[in-house]
This record gives sequence, structure tokens and C-alpha cells, in this order.
Amino acid sequence: MSAVHLTFDNGPHPEVTPRVLEVLGRHGVSATFFVLGQHLAEPWGMSLAHQIRDAGHRLGNHSFTHQTPLGEDPRPDAVALELARTQALLDQVWSGPRWFRPFGGGGVLGPHLLSPAAVEWLKTERMTCVLWTSVPGDWLDAAGWVDKALADAEAQPTDVVVLHDVLEEASLHLDRFLDALVARGHTFTAALPPACLPIVDGVTQPGLRSFVAS
Ligand SMILES: [Zn+2]
Repeated sequence: MSAVHLTFDNGPHPEVTPRVLEVLGRHGVSATFFVLGQHLAEPWGMSLAHQIRDAGHRLGNHSFTHQTPLGEDPRPDAVALELARTQALLDQVWSGPRWFRPFGGGGVLGPHLLSPAAVEWLKTERMTCVLWTSVPGDWLDAAGWVDKALADAEAQPTDVVVLHDVLEEASLHLDRFLDALVARGHTFTAALPPACLPIVDGVTQPGLRSFVAS
């Protein structure tokens, strides 16, 4: 049995995020939403961020454009454009723990996730870097991701699941996923396993190097 931490990346989205909030609320489950700055920059995006927060969920930074993994981004000002710009928007709505989730290539973990400059910024800003243990591929298989996510939960005592609140069809199966988790005896947690946190409140942890480009 697993303690499951739900995360939703790449949103918010005008149609899908409200549906996800409705399902989570009905189940009494809290989640973490790693949002994009380019959405927060729009009034509808900031409004949804407030709704996420007011419903008792957590918000984190997931870059501004989500285009190039930081470890592969050649722009000298990538950290300012992607991380600092998003954090400035997030600071308007979120005063809780400062979490950042890097992205890259279908959930593959590796040195493409972070750059040395990004690590310096995360340290200076006392951010926590949040990785994952399960990427069931909701963007690849709109219904089949549920079985993959359930198998991942069976396989590990703590499970940090990456889902996306931008996928209309996949989100229709969230209700079924949450029911199945409970039926199998899994629980939900707001905590994160240390193995998923290469930087905690700006302090680098053992293992960080495998996620930083050289
Ligand atoms: Zn993402």
C-alpha cells in the first residue's frame, strides 16, 4: 500500500482545472498544482490559481513556457525568463512552501532537468525542487493511464504521481482512479519522500548532480 501525493502539471486550464478541482473536492483529497507562468499571466489563469489555493491545494512553479528543459536551454537569461518571472506571478497568489518542478521529455529523470544557473537560483530563493516517482502517461493514453498509475502505486510505499490538468479526456478518468486507490487501501499524503527532493528550502541534497547539466 502506498501513500500517494497527487500532482497536476502544466495548467491551469479553463475547462480541465475546474473539473479536476470538483473531483478532488468530492473525494476530499488535496493535490499540488505545478503551474505555468504563461497561464498565470492571463487573468483567467490567475483566477484559477486563486481557486486552486482556496480549495486547499498547493501551488508550485513549473516554468513560464515549458518549452526547453533547463539543462538544455541555451539562453543566458533562461532562469530569469522561466523561473523568476513565473515565481513573481506565483508570489501574488501563493505564500506557502516554495516548490519548483522541472520538466523534460515525458517524465524522464536526468541531467537535462536543471542547469547550474537554475540550481543557484533555487538555492538563493530557498526553493524546494520536487521530482516524481510515477508518470503514468495521461497524455499518451487517456484511459489507460489509470491502470499504469495503480500499478506504480502498488510498487512503492510513497508515490508522487504526475498528472496534467490540461487534458480533457484523461481528466474524465480521475474519479475512477481515486476510487480505485481507496478501494485498494492506498492513502493520500501532502508529504513528499526525500528521494524526490534534490533541493530542500535552498539546500542541495545528495544525488542532485544526476539532475544537473554540466
Ligand atoms: Zn510539465
